[in-house]
Amino acid sequence: MGEQTHWFTDEREVLDKTTVVERFLRYVKVDTQSDEESESCPSTAKQLDLAEILARELKELGLEDAQVDENGYLFATFKGNVEGSPVIGLLAHMDTAPAFSGTNVKPILHENYDGGVIELEDSVVIDPKDTPELKQCIKDTIITSDGTTLLGSDDKAGIAEIMAALELFKAHPELPRPTLRIGFTPDEEIGRGADKFDIEKFGAKAAFTIDGDFIGEVNSETFSADKGTVVFEGVSVHPGTAKGKMVNAMDWAGVFLTRLPQEETPQQTEGREGFFHPTDMTGDAAKVTVNLILRDFDDRKLAERGKRLEQIIDRIRSEEPRLKVELKITEQYRNMARWLTKQPEILEKAMEAIRKAGIEPNHRPIRGGTDGSQLTQRGLPTPNLFTGGVNFHGPKEWISTRAMGKAVCVIVNLVQLWGARI
Ligand SMILES: [Zn+2]
Repeated sequence: MGEQTHWFTDEREVLDKTTVVERFLRYVKVDTQSDEESESCPSTAKQLDLAEILARELKELGLEDAQVDENGYLFATFKGNVEGSPVIGLLAHMDTAPAFSGTNVKPILHENYDGGVIELEDSVVIDPKDTPELKQCIKDTIITSDGTTLLGSDDKAGIAEIMAALELFKAHPELPRPTLRIGFTPDEEIGRGADKFDIEKFGAKAAFTIDGDFIGEVNSETFSADKGTVVFEGVSVHPGTAKGKMVNAMDWAGVFLTRLPQEETPQQTEGREGFFHPTDMTGDAAKVTVNLILRDFDDRKLAERGKRLEQIIDRIRSEEPRLKVELKITEQYRNMARWLTKQPEILEKAMEAIRKAGIEPNHRPIRGGTDGSQLTQRGLPTPNLFTGGVNFHGPKEWISTRAMGKAVCVIVNLVQLWGARI
């Protein structure tokens, strides 16, 4: 068993042989929006509704140990058929973004798409002018919401695609595969998806999140991220008798903000450029706290950003010695490339799996973090692969069934690459 590789390139084969689209249409109807205000894990109990459905369906596919833990993480094992191959993880997240409603999603299939604008309720228009990927999907079946909610291809497409890959391996025991660990996680959209992920219990050598967007995307680089907190303490005096005595903390917080490099902001940067971004400020004349996030792909440059803040603050201290200013930098997450470049076969196999599906990989750095950045840093190398979805987190979100089929091709090829004796 497990000796006969078959490289999947034709999405029609996947769409015929699996229930990927049916599954997707079913999963998006389960409301799983996460909530950043909540302290619990999962942040919303409704995510467990989907977790329980998926646990049952995994059992039906023969993954008998499928179980949802006390934090809403669903893990399951699909036994391999090639001895000595490493355990590989496939991950997707169950929640949808708090940014837009995920209640009562009514998916619409636009068959034989003609290349024009797609009009939905609430005057929502998906226009190929703003979404050039649509041009690559003429004659495909496009799936959207009805315009009143997001669609939820982020990341229910990832879940449906992993399930479809399992269907194919179950139907084709001759395809070589390592033991697979499946992980469906809560709360990715509020940045907590990796927090309670038990890497040891998961027990994989490497994992792949299926959570990227359009066909071909693969990500093995993310930002490295620090947070800066600056506290300004002035001298508080009754304003009637303040001449020559008062030091207003707000004035100096304002000076600080104007001295940040104005060309290194999120709104002025792209690609591999980093930035300083003041996120919020609270306080009064006596005391002001400014929070900033610092981002860079290069850890050395990120550290320099911290030093540059210190220099700006030193100058302010010398200009107003009565003002007290403290800077604290805390680490948030690190670019996954630092670890992934040390184990190049992980990315190489991902690229190879995409090529074997007849697609040119689009290897793109992510200007943000993923669950994979945290998992990689904690010891589970986890690059990200595409789902096929576009315009995540809003009513213009869409996915084509062809893209879903291609994503399944890539997953099945990837698994075979880890199982194949070469
Ligand atoms: Zn996602």
